[in-house]
Amino acid sequence: MNRKEFMKTTSMAVAGGLVVAFTACSPQVLPGLVEEPGARKNWAGNYTYHAEQLYRPETVEEVQELMVELGSLKALGSRHCFNNIADSPGSQISTSGLNKLLSVDEEAMTVTVQAGARYGDFAEELHGRGYALHNLASLPHITVAGACATGTHGSGVENGNLATAVVSLDLVKPDGELVTLDREHPDFPAVVVGLGAFGIVTQLTLAMQPTFDVRQDIYNNLPLTSVVDHFDTIMSAGYSVSLFTNWLDGNVSEVWIKRRTDEEVEEMGGEYYGSLAATENMHPIAGLSTDAVSDQMGRPGPWYDRLPHFKMGFTPSAGEELQSEFFVPRENAVEAILAIEAMAGEVNPLLLISEIRTIAADDFWMSPAYQRDSVALHFTWKQQEEEVLALLPAIEEALAPFAVRPHWGKLFTINAATLRQRYPKMNDFVALAKRYDPEGKFRNTYLDNRVVQ
Ligand SMILES: Cc1cc2nc3c(=O)[nH]c(=O)nc-3n(C[C@H](O)[C@H](O)[C@H](O)COP(=O)(O)OP(=O)(O)OC[C@H]3O[C@@H](n4cnc5c(N)ncnc54)[C@H](O)[C@@H]3O)c2cc1C
Repeated sequence: MNRKEFMKTTSMAVAGGLVVAFTACSPQVLPGLVEEPGARKNWAGNYTYHAEQLYRPETVEEVQELMVELGSLKALGSRHCFNNIADSPGSQISTSGLNKLLSVDEEAMTVTVQAGARYGDFAEELHGRGYALHNLASLPHITVAGACATGTHGSGVENGNLATAVVSLDLVKPDGELVTLDREHPDFPAVVVGLGAFGIVTQLTLAMQPTFDVRQDIYNNLPLTSVVDHFDTIMSAGYSVSLFTNWLDGNVSEVWIKRRTDEEVEEMGGEYYGSLAATENMHPIAGLSTDAVSDQMGRPGPWYDRLPHFKMGFTPSAGEELQSEFFVPRENAVEAILAIEAMAGEVNPLLLISEIRTIAADDFWMSPAYQRDSVALHFTWKQQEEEVLALLPAIEEALAPFAVRPHWGKLFTINAATLRQRYPKMNDFVALAKRYDPEGKFRNTYLDNRVVQ
């Protein structure tokens, strides 16, 4: 059955009161049911999804069919969130069967990909065709739709999060209708960083630019005093800059400076604000194998192979870990950094590494960088969830004077009432999500506790 026929059948069935017959269907007859032995967990293994069934559609029509026939459901990307955001009291719809690069429009300078494509699935091909995206996260293993839904970001004072590349998206709504939203659509700023609350995104069109090369230079042992005195200069030293620290000894262990070779080619020298150029490739977490990291030592390479810290095909970061991340206005960066440094005694014992990055402001209602240039303080934790969850309120309290916003896909404890004060458009977001999803098909414990309250 093609889509037109399906939608026609659907509307006739609804008009004829046959919905009950649909919902009474055995789930086994629906497309893409995945038989999974054992519990279904997220990437880090710290969260076991409660959703009973997992479906893996391979066409948009199958997504529509599942949408009409199932009750509660949620899209599931590459499972890289650390909390219950992708869970559902009903079913999960994996987008891993929708993973292709669909088209490149050289005139509009856009690329259209299916929602379940991971950046690493198509970035090399895009480069081969002469194009690039503006930025990537620390890893290319995540799906485009999953990353955009949570406001996932890389670094760079001029770089918005990954969702800022979205030019339009296709969304299957709860009634199975497929709609396209572009930048002119009034709902676009709500739906792009949509926390899975509006429907299942099936494809996204992203802005692209001519491809570029990046060189990555690492400096070791930057004194924290240099960060305090020269934060803006250091974070502007490249197209994308990351500071890694364990908060001890007034020291930033690694400064990763990623520079576009078409813009920034001068040698930086062996010393930078008191830090020294690394003499070999580094992993952000001391002692872990550098096989997994993107190439460094100033060797130029394509954007997709330098902007992420980690390479496709390898385990990114540590694997056995947890993560939290907190966004504050960039103008408060130094105060926020010092506030965390003052907690080093509590933070360090649970920490694998922290990372400090910058993100340019955007206009997506639920983006942590909504209308404010931001600095993000990230924590890669040891997998000691109870202890981490016990510590988070103190960190959130220390950053509260800066109206801190958490990364939606990582661990945090801030409740909906507090978040509402920090997201001026949250009430509008909730109202719009209810308009799209009046029956609450996409509601889950996460949305109920963190957003709707
Ligand atoms: C090792 C590691 C490194 C990371 N590095 C970074 C980083 O550098 N920067 C950063 O910001 N974050 C980072 N993250 C966090 C990560 O980018 C986010 O958690 C992101 O959301 C993961 O995407 P996913 O495809 O795994 O989404 P999932 O966890 O599968 O889903 C996340 C949310 O998106 C929704 N969703 C997914 N697909 C769709 C769809 N098609 N339609 C509608 N909703 C959808 C889900 O329902 C859910 O609500 C990292 C995570 C890990 C594990």
